[in-house]
Parts: sequence; C-alpha cells; structure tokens
Amino acid sequence: MNSSPSQLVSLENVKDLLDSTEAFLFDCDGVIWKGDKLIHGVPETLQLLRSKGKKLVFVTNNSTKSRKQYANKFLSLGISVTEDEIFSSSFAAAMYLQLINFPQHKKVYVIGEQGILEELQLAGFTALGGPEDGKKTVQLKSNCLFEHDKSVGAVVVGLDQYINYYKLQYGTLCIRENPGCLFIATNRDAVGHMTDLQEWPGAGCMVAAICGTTQKEPTVVGKPSTFLMDFLLKKFDMSCSKMCMVGDRLDTDILFGQNAGCRTLLVLSGVTTLSALQDSSNKTHPDYYTSKLSDIFELMQP
Ligand code: PLP
Ligand code: CA
Repeated sequence: MNSSPSQLVSLENVKDLLDSTEAFLFDCDGVIWKGDKLIHGVPETLQLLRSKGKKLVFVTNNSTKSRKQYANKFLSLGISVTEDEIFSSSFAAAMYLQLINFPQHKKVYVIGEQGILEELQLAGFTALGGPEDGKKTVQLKSNCLFEHDKSVGAVVVGLDQYINYYKLQYGTLCIRENPGCLFIATNRDAVGHMTDLQEWPGAGCMVAAICGTTQKEPTVVGKPSTFLMDFLLKKFDMSCSKMCMVGDRLDTDILFGQNAGCRTLLVLSGVTTLSALQDSSNKTHPDYYTSKLSDIFELMQP
C-alpha cells in the first residue's frame, strides 16, 4: 500500500509514467465513459498512447455486457478496441470457472444479465437463469414446493435489472442444498452509472441479498480481486512494475492496481471527489491523480 500523498499529474511525471509504463489498464465507467456518454478527450489520449507503443487493456466491473458487446459500445463511441483488449467481470466469471476446472456436466445458475450468459456459453458452460427468469413468478401457496436443478454447481451473481423473488429463491436453494455449489460474484460495486446522470444500485446489492439468504461469502472475480490481475498478468506475460492502472474508484480500481504493485492514477471524472481523496479517513492513495484522462494528452502537446 502507498501511504504517501498522491501527486497531481504534471508534465514531468507524465513523461516519467510514459517512460516506465508498457501497459495501461483502464477502468471504463468514469474514465472512458460515463453511462453512455464518452468522456471528453479520451479517443485522442488513447491514440497518443497507442502511437507510443503502449499496450492498452480495458477492465470493467459492469457485468451486464460481454466483451463482444463492449467492443460494440467502444465502436459506437468512436474508439476501436478489440475483444481481447477487454476484461469485463462477466468474462472473469467464465475464466474463473475454467481455471478451477468447473465440470462441464454441471450447470451454472445466473442472477445477472446477457453479458454473463454469453461469456459462460462461449467458455462452454451450460447457463440457466439470466434475464429470462425475470419473467417468472413464485406461487406462495401452503403446499407449494419450489423446485431447482440439482445439477447446478455454481451460482454467478452480477448486476441484474430483472432481479425478482423467483431468482433469489432459485440461487439460494442451489447454494444451500446442492452439495459443494459455488457462490461467485462478478463484483460488489454498491452503485453504478446505469445512466450518465445518476447512480443506480450495483451488483453489490444482488450479492448482498444472496449473502443474506445463504449466510455465505462469495468469491469475487472482478476488481479488486487478485484472480483477475493474475489472469491478466499471465495472459500478457507482463510485469506489474511496468503497468499503470487508471481508474475513478479507490476501493476497486486503485486497490486492484496497488494490490499487484502497479502504479496507479486516479481520475476525478467519475465517482471520487478531490475532497474524498484527501480526506483523512481515506487510506487508499494512488500514486497520481488528475481531473480527467485527457490531461495526459494536453500535457504532452508541444
Ligand atoms: N456495475 C454497474 C452495474 C455499473 O453500471 C458500473 C458502472 O457504470 C459498474 C459496475 C462499474 O463499472 P467500471 O468498472 O467500468 O467502472
Ligand atoms: Ca469506474
């Protein structure tokens, strides 16, 4: 952990950062976009970094989309990013199951959206639940017995706009009654920018519901988990000392980078204010901070 105060980005430390960094890991919401709106100056900054030969990686905790859907979102905002540069928490859930050799004959119950279903299916897993179960209801009659699939071996919980009593009961029964059933959370963000003007309940709320009913804690696969960082490092054969994590959230992005020993840059274009960063109760100090990503681009202009 870095206990020295964070430095405001200057021309001198941008040059130093560019010299010492081979790969930049970018959080998405609050850095690249806010909800569906591109943050000013991002395409030029990414272009500048690419022209200097830097590897760019995009890591988002928002599990509602798959990597393919994110590549389309980038394109719709005028930024060209390939699927293999994107690491969403939906993808992380599928990669975690692969890593632990989750048996293909077992099923995965999803309290979440299309992104998780798509990534699980691409990785060869059989997924149940998802948005479809949002239409289902429960009949609370005295003699009713809620049935669930006994071959579900993992419940994956992410942000779910279609959360309902049926899904909560289904996920709960799998975890409580299927021997060895795993409880995996894509992320625990309390809120997220489902729209650009306002924050909405995040996956942390759905995860907390299942913690409440099962009295169990999940394995978290998104930021700030070490699983996701280890996966990235292995995939790109990269050393943390040559990486910089750029994010707008102290408890996910900055911690994610710091836990691995990466340099960290906080941008104030998302959820963290300067006063929150400088508050004496804050224990997470990024190496650098700046108001928005494009400050890098502006500082580098002749
Ligand atoms: N989860 C949800 C539902 C969100 O809407 C967001 C941001 O919009 C996030 C998580 C955080 O995403 P990121 O890691 O890209 O900041
Ligand atoms: Ca963010």
